[in-house]
Amino acid sequence: MLRVGINGYGTIGKRVADAVRSQPDMEVAGVAKVSPDYVALGAAEAEYPLYAVDEDRIDGFHEAGIELAGTVDELVADSDVVVDATPSGIGEQNRPLYERHDTPALFQGGEDATVAEVSFNARANYEEAADADYVRVVSCNTTGLSRLVAPIHEDYGIEKVRTTLVRRGGDPNQTGRGPINDALPDPVSIPSHHGPDVQTVFPELDIDTIGLKVPTTMMHVHAVNITLEEEPDSVEAVRERLREENRLLLIPDYAGIDGAGTLKDLALDAGRPRGDIWENCIWEESLTLEGKDLYCMQAIHQESDVVPENIDAIRSVTGLLDGPESRTLTDETLGIGL
Ligand code: NAD
Repeated sequence: MLRVGINGYGTIGKRVADAVRSQPDMEVAGVAKVSPDYVALGAAEAEYPLYAVDEDRIDGFHEAGIELAGTVDELVADSDVVVDATPSGIGEQNRPLYERHDTPALFQGGEDATVAEVSFNARANYEEAADADYVRVVSCNTTGLSRLVAPIHEDYGIEKVRTTLVRRGGDPNQTGRGPINDALPDPVSIPSHHGPDVQTVFPELDIDTIGLKVPTTMMHVHAVNITLEEEPDSVEAVRERLREENRLLLIPDYAGIDGAGTLKDLALDAGRPRGDIWENCIWEESLTLEGKDLYCMQAIHQESDVVPENIDAIRSVTGLLDGPESRTLTDETLGIGL
């Protein structure tokens, strides 16, 4: 059993911990927390061994009645691989800790690409992480775009991608984020940083992205235009090709899903943990072909689409399985594909 430590137990970290626990070939060595808050109580309730990040706050955990297994240093020493899910920029500061223990580590998309040897997407470049000690699992938006682009690139070739990203203002627990009554160009500069981030996975891809931020916490929505090199026989052919991809969910018109609210409702009805949607949700009706120009709209659940990618990245860096085997096992154990 591979022992996985989780350093940074927030939105992404707690989901990755639960996903690790549901795999047959790995277990959670423990999770590291800064403060003894409700999330730490949840981790204790879930019986994850808890490790303190900050030695000065150990007393606070004891006062809250939360038992500690040790410090983050001990967690890293006891782990075969660490998933660093700390806030943007902290992962880079943590890298010397992993180096000191000679422990491979995964970082998240909030870090600069330079934090790791490889920027990772399970569908696009699983094998590239095989020889790496440090891997960055790309952000929610980059993951969503990479999954869509990969099969299209393989089958038709891509001349250019243009995408407008309508981004959620914050996650549901980010009570201070906004806007609360506006639609903000974010960033105002064009192209946004998302296109170059996709190029960390597909270096040759010509892609421009534009970003906006709106008052919702639920999901991001992408309006995508891909100019293909080779014209497909029909839009149906593209639709069938995308349907073969387990992490792309095609939403039929009859389902009556008109936005992120109904998607989240569906996820809760389906018994998904925390109402998570690990797949890209592509509106079937939006798939349109005008000559070599393909259009579609997709919703991306920012809190969870990177979770299966982290599981696959763990297997890639540790050599547990090859890409197709890992993706299949991850999908089966999590229940991906509604
Ligand atoms: P978060 O704030 O929800 O969780 C981060 C956790 O790390 C918190 O519990 C925080 O207390 C803890 N922490 C802070 N400093 C720490 C330290 N020095 N050591 C250990 N733990 C520490 O953040 P998040 O949304 O889970 O984001 C984590 C990473 O994942 C970021 O790089 C982010 O860009 C990326 N990401 C986030 C989302 C998203 O939508 N939330 C999606 C994809 C990727």
